[in-house]
Amino acid sequence: MFIINYIPENRNPFITINIDVIMAKLIFFGKPMAGKGTFSKLVSKETGIKHVSTGDLFRKEMADGTDLGNSIKDKMQKGELVSADVTVELLKNNLPESFILDGFPRTLSQAEKFKDLSDIDLVVEIDVSDETIIKRTLGRMICRKCGAIFGIEIKPKQEGVCDKCAGELYHREDDTEETIKDRLDCYNKQTKPLLDFYKDKLVKIDGNRTFEPILQDILRVLKEKSLYM
Ligand code: AMP
Repeated sequence: MFIINYIPENRNPFITINIDVIMAKLIFFGKPMAGKGTFSKLVSKETGIKHVSTGDLFRKEMADGTDLGNSIKDKMQKGELVSADVTVELLKNNLPESFILDGFPRTLSQAEKFKDLSDIDLVVEIDVSDETIIKRTLGRMICRKCGAIFGIEIKPKQEGVCDKCAGELYHREDDTEETIKDRLDCYNKQTKPLLDFYKDKLVKIDGNRTFEPILQDILRVLKEKSLYM
């Protein structure tokens, strides 16, 4: 935490304003569909710590039609991991001082490369059982019009109709038990070993609950670690 004593120009130097700036370097970690994206956005909104999603950064490169965007299109479409060098380089150019990383690192090689770039204060693991992940995947409904997502935790008021814009809700074709089991396999092989890599920085949050208690638990931990006031 930095306390900046700021004396405005031409003002009485005996009156100072304290601006508290909290620097937090966080990783939100978990299985696919554990809620990393959702909670990193909610915590970012609450704390002001910037949300950085490597998936979003890659999608922006593709939308902007950059050379990098064009070179990763194939891998993104197949849901395969982009190389550690490319991913870390992209992150290097888009890393604020205070951040919540979502979707990174996904492999040991990425974590090792990232170590040269920045330290980490805390890794928040949102721990969700495979059973809940599968139920969430099969129950996920998306609005065709505005992209809002509903599911087993947040059900629409009227079945098949979006609460926000009254658009039609649909189930993604690739939200099947087979696909999510493949993604969980990939997580177990490539990403889960990172829990050991970060064991000294790790805090586990029970993610098998509704939004509010999970969010409150994360904020409580950040307060305890003086990463949020
Ligand atoms: P996400 O939105 O996090 O699911 O990411 C979408 C896609 O972006 C993934 O399927 C990968 O192709 C790519 N991607 C995102 N983050 C990473 C990462 N840390 N390492 C490698 N590829 C990534």
